[in-house]
Amino acid sequence: MNAENNGVNTPLIVQNEAEMDTRNAQSPPATVQPIMEALHLRKYFPLRQFKLLGPRDVVHAVEDTTLALYPGHALALVGESGSGKTTMARLLARLYEPTSGTIAFRGEPVRGNSRAAQKAYRRHVQLIFQDPFSSLNPVHNVRYHLKRPLRLHGHARTTAQETEQILALLNRVSLSPAEQFIEKFPHQLSGGQRQRVAIARALAARPEVLLADEPVSMLDVSIRLDILNLLLRLKDEEQLALLFITHDIASARYFAEDTLVMYAGQTVEGGPSEEVIQRPLHPYTQLLISAAPDPDRMGLDGKSTTTLPARGEIPSLIRPPTGCRFHPRCPHAMPVCRERFPGRTDLGGGHWTNCFLYGEGNKQDKGYEEGEQDERVEKGDRKGLHPAPTPPAPIQ
Ligand code: SF4
Repeated sequence: MNAENNGVNTPLIVQNEAEMDTRNAQSPPATVQPIMEALHLRKYFPLRQFKLLGPRDVVHAVEDTTLALYPGHALALVGESGSGKTTMARLLARLYEPTSGTIAFRGEPVRGNSRAAQKAYRRHVQLIFQDPFSSLNPVHNVRYHLKRPLRLHGHARTTAQETEQILALLNRVSLSPAEQFIEKFPHQLSGGQRQRVAIARALAARPEVLLADEPVSMLDVSIRLDILNLLLRLKDEEQLALLFITHDIASARYFAEDTLVMYAGQTVEGGPSEEVIQRPLHPYTQLLISAAPDPDRMGLDGKSTTTLPARGEIPSLIRPPTGCRFHPRCPHAMPVCRERFPGRTDLGGGHWTNCFLYGEGNKQDKGYEEGEQDERVEKGDRKGLHPAPTPPAPIQ
């Protein structure tokens, strides 16, 4: 384990409320078009097993998930480990093919699996991995890691152009003096410096969309804020659309204008981060927030004084619970929660949730019963599935 990583996924506690309020007021106006959309994405992984009779078991990793990313705007995808967040990032990066659903870039469905199509897509959409220790090849230096995307995407043709752009990239991610870092190998860098190189490598393609999969969770607490601030600066300066995946709802509030909460492969609540985190409505979001350290809710022993009484653990996704997958843990579960997944109920100001406590869902989205959605998707019938989120209105 690197010296900078204490091995504990300590949440980021943000003290500067004024700074946060300013940032969260930057929601895009309703006229801004999303640069990337995921529409009703679903991913099932068949299990490797020998079965004489019946279909193979599958892991239901992502169910009917819809989201939109906007230029200069960050969306946080929050949930426990195993909730499907990373699968979602890999679907958007096209490392996995969706079982059903559509990914659209600039309004056009993304199609084609050829090398040329993949390369063209990666020019626009880059993924930053969680682990800076394994995402860099230990036998190559920083120059090699950064020159590859520059050459691959045709941004540098000569060694002089290459060096000039690599130095500029290192300066952009605050690795300076850049000349001191360009020939270094990964083992000569700290965890934070490696993650900066990984971010520089993603920027080398000149993308419009960055998918950051828990970019700070493997780093020491003391440098997490630096990396988050770096990503925020790049997002603002270069108008990048950012998907920020995290299990730490406090850092979602600090980092992203909007938050989407995911549980066991289903999205359960979403809207402007300030609204979702200050006024969580879905019992799972309330549980996540009550479990996050908050100085105002700490007892003398340092433990939260208001953790909600949810039972059990995240369920198996091979045979997930019917209806709302949170029902075995939910203190408010009703008989209907076991029968079908609730439709999406809009609560105003871009805030919405999928929970029967707040209604049966909007007219166009009445949820689905077990098996019903499978048939509809297989038949290509998209009516009644969750609509794309509307851009949130600016917070007053
Ligand atoms: Fe709980 Fe039912 Fe709401 Fe699911 S739909 S969170 S089980 S009340």
